[in-house]
Amino acid sequence: MRILVVEDDADLADAVTRHLRRDGHAVDWEHDGESADDILGYQQYDLVLLDIGLPNMSGFDILRRLRSRGHATPVMMLTARSEVEDRVDALDVGADDYLPKPFDFREFDARCRALLRRAQGLASNVTTVGRLVFDRAARSARIGDEELHLPNREFRLLEILIGRLGKAISKEQISAQLFDFDDEAGMNAIELYVGRLRRKLGSAITIRTIRGFGYMAEAGDGSA
Ligand code: CA
Repeated sequence: MRILVVEDDADLADAVTRHLRRDGHAVDWEHDGESADDILGYQQYDLVLLDIGLPNMSGFDILRRLRSRGHATPVMMLTARSEVEDRVDALDVGADDYLPKPFDFREFDARCRALLRRAQGLASNVTTVGRLVFDRAARSARIGDEELHLPNREFRLLEILIGRLGKAISKEQISAQLFDFDDEAGMNAIELYVGRLRRKLGSAITIRTIRGFGYMAEAGDGSA
């Protein structure tokens, strides 16, 4: 998934960014309020992690402007302040959740998962498609009793594809969710990952190529 981290504390931003990348997410980092507001005007994200006190524009103003443009992007505010008012304001302005700093990464992960899941319209971390059982919390994918070995990018690509089961998704959309601005990987990398996923998924999930557009995943025929 594509995540924007807006945080002016470089050490914290670095820790959060590394942590999310290790988990296979595409992550962009902005330390300045105005730049963050700018980037949110043209780039779609699956999740925004937003500090409140920022240079040039506050997290509250960034969020207010994002919502006024009609964007429902999930936003979690990161706040150093413990005041009840800040937390109430965050939710009132349109944040989906908030996390007081400093935080434990286990709680951070669980909250991010919940927001990403909700954005995809999923009630649970576990999605079952035919014989495939995909578990976001356990970070595992199984076909029957067989655990699939999926490196981060393949795991996230499968997550994107089964999040839109039976619907076509363009290569551009996949690329925007899978790679951040620093990533050199291009469209060819997507073909490579799809090829690997197809081999691993066998007949459990079919990933159709839609010529000149992208892909569509469907539950397979169920045979071995
Ligand atoms: Ca700050």
